[in-house]
Amino acid sequence: MEEHQEDLASLSDLDEKSLLESLTLRFNQNQIYTYIGDILVAVNPFKYLSLYEKEVSEKYKYHEKSSLPPHIFAVADRAYQSMLGRLGTGPKNQCIVISGESGAGKTESTKLLLRQLVELCRANSQLEQQILQVNPLLEAFGNAQTVMNDNSSRFGKYIQLRFQNSSVKGAKINEYLLEKSRVVHQDEGERNFHIFYCMLAGISPHDKEMYGLLEPTQYRYLNGRSIQDDAVQHWSAKFGEVSNAMDMVGFEEQEKVDMMTILAGVLSLGNITFETTDSDALKVTEKCQGWLKATAGQFGVEAEELQRCLTCTMSVARGEAIYRFHNQQQAEDARDSIAKVVYGRVFGWIVSKINELLTHTLDSKVELNEIGILDIFGFENFAVNRFEQLCINLANEQLQYFFNHHIFLMEQNEYKEEGIQWETITFKDNKPILDLFLTKPIGILSLLDEQSNFPQATDGNFVDKLNSKFKANPHYDVVRSHCPLFAIVHYAGKVQYNASGFLEKNRDNIPASIRNLFINSVTPLLSVLFSATISRTGTLMPRRANLQVVDDNFNSTRKQSVGAQFKHSLAVLMEKMFVANPHFVRCIKPNASKLPDLVDRKLVMDQLRYNGLLETIRIRREGFSWRPSFKEFAQRWDPFCIFHVYLLCLHSISCMSILNTTELSGWKCGSSRLFFKYWHQEELARLLERLGK
Ligand code: ATP
Ligand code: MG
Repeated sequence: MEEHQEDLASLSDLDEKSLLESLTLRFNQNQIYTYIGDILVAVNPFKYLSLYEKEVSEKYKYHEKSSLPPHIFAVADRAYQSMLGRLGTGPKNQCIVISGESGAGKTESTKLLLRQLVELCRANSQLEQQILQVNPLLEAFGNAQTVMNDNSSRFGKYIQLRFQNSSVKGAKINEYLLEKSRVVHQDEGERNFHIFYCMLAGISPHDKEMYGLLEPTQYRYLNGRSIQDDAVQHWSAKFGEVSNAMDMVGFEEQEKVDMMTILAGVLSLGNITFETTDSDALKVTEKCQGWLKATAGQFGVEAEELQRCLTCTMSVARGEAIYRFHNQQQAEDARDSIAKVVYGRVFGWIVSKINELLTHTLDSKVELNEIGILDIFGFENFAVNRFEQLCINLANEQLQYFFNHHIFLMEQNEYKEEGIQWETITFKDNKPILDLFLTKPIGILSLLDEQSNFPQATDGNFVDKLNSKFKANPHYDVVRSHCPLFAIVHYAGKVQYNASGFLEKNRDNIPASIRNLFINSVTPLLSVLFSATISRTGTLMPRRANLQVVDDNFNSTRKQSVGAQFKHSLAVLMEKMFVANPHFVRCIKPNASKLPDLVDRKLVMDQLRYNGLLETIRIRREGFSWRPSFKEFAQRWDPFCIFHVYLLCLHSISCMSILNTTELSGWKCGSSRLFFKYWHQEELARLLERLGK
């Protein structure tokens, strides 16, 4: 019994309760990993377990999955072997999809997978060391403490390792939707991005002065909170790591200095407040003139110019610039949007720089295979859910769909097409929820774009539109309130969204005056960040200088909205993933208090349910997850038969002959392919090895 529990698909009788029981039993014995056929379930232990030492990593190299206890390293091994074509199919791109709610352990799993993949290449080149530094770097700038997770990823990423034969030759990262609003506002119990605390705790007093940094309590964007004494050490050590990682990856000293100065500028900017003058004009408050000067110094721009950008709107009429004063709120919004855009661009620049440094050695003529690891932000349901949560949850819907599609739809369609007898297993199809978001022209994102294009439209108008279009949709709930609220019934539960700020965030405009201000900055990095656009592929592209003013006055007509960009990048990602060979890791969070040795049964049960794990077990137990075509199979397993290649034209016959020479049972033959249980692949590999092939 004990042993069988390592693979839940091998249990003959399982219901929700016994599934929970099995996982809990294993968890209590520190066995956090369990298989469901070829899918790995990982329950976050919230404590250190000696599961990842060098000896363990060695043990899991080039090994059969069933001969060792379930482990994340086995997933890395399988992806690597499959990519090399050693597991019965030709060499192919692989993708490892890690899912689970916030704090379930996706990012930790990603790091372990990367580490093991680099180990599997068995080399110790500089490139591999650089690849391992990417995570600490990205985490410093893109992760933050939330109520759900002390190290929550506030962006999504797809890391692609590129291999030539068996060794890694480069790496590329795609990042998705950094939660920029965190720079200017954090809810109760949450923090700003890690890098600010690292920087304030870690740099020397001399450098602190050079960058014009003060104590954390001085900064409004950090909620005026100090760094607790016991945390100083932690952040300071992290700062050392980040600085080290930047050196290793290949950032130049001047770039690092510029970056710190810009981040210091963001903090100073947050302290600026405004007041009206006697003539009804608006200016930076008298007591904040020091902050204005400090910010201007750190951004390398004129204080006067900066003040103008904060307090006025500029428009161009007949070639002449016309200025109109902001009101107090507009000025505060302008201040916050500058902070967000500057931080967002620094982050984008770091990613594109990493890509540049880690792909420049690639030879474009050489055919490469890829292993991609997807680690996106987990499903979120906070007290207040905003535009960011809507996008995050949409991405999770898309992933769940990808999982369902592979595990249930594709597989069962093939049974039907190939004439395999099969009793359909039903699952919770979330396609209608995806359609609610993505359908053109009346999906939520399209309606948001439509409203964003009307300068006078309000967030309330947007919700009114949603209510009238979707009130009958079973996945949409109208919320009666004086606030612009609506609710979506996601695959993982109902989430209520507050649409305040949706239109603004979706437009994400940068006024031309602000762009011009930064283009003329004497800080070289800042000037680059605003004179280049960062393409969707993550590389910096030069922007034509003469388009600056005319093109981008409020930047509205031609620029794609945030929602549309996100939708596009999700579609590109899915396209890539649908043609790769997928491996799934389902992370489970055992309790909401981030405590070790504690299982909150209801919380775990909810996750098992919405992940569709029970149905997954059934299909893995009864289904045929390995389905090679006759040709694919015969080519690979020809060594068994003494048949000559000309016989391969009778594919199904040759395949059957091959299989009849083995003692394999339980497989089926369709009209164009064979159907195997997930464990058959390994059994065949073993036979082949025994034959010395
Ligand atoms: P988010 O969606 O918020 O980014 P996540 O799923 O990426 O969440 P992680 O950051 O990977 O979650 O994990 C949260 C925390 O749980 C980690 O900081 C770590 O403390 C702990 N943890 C996760 N996996 C493990 C593990 N295998 N061993 C020990 N601790 C772990
Ligand atoms: Mg994470």
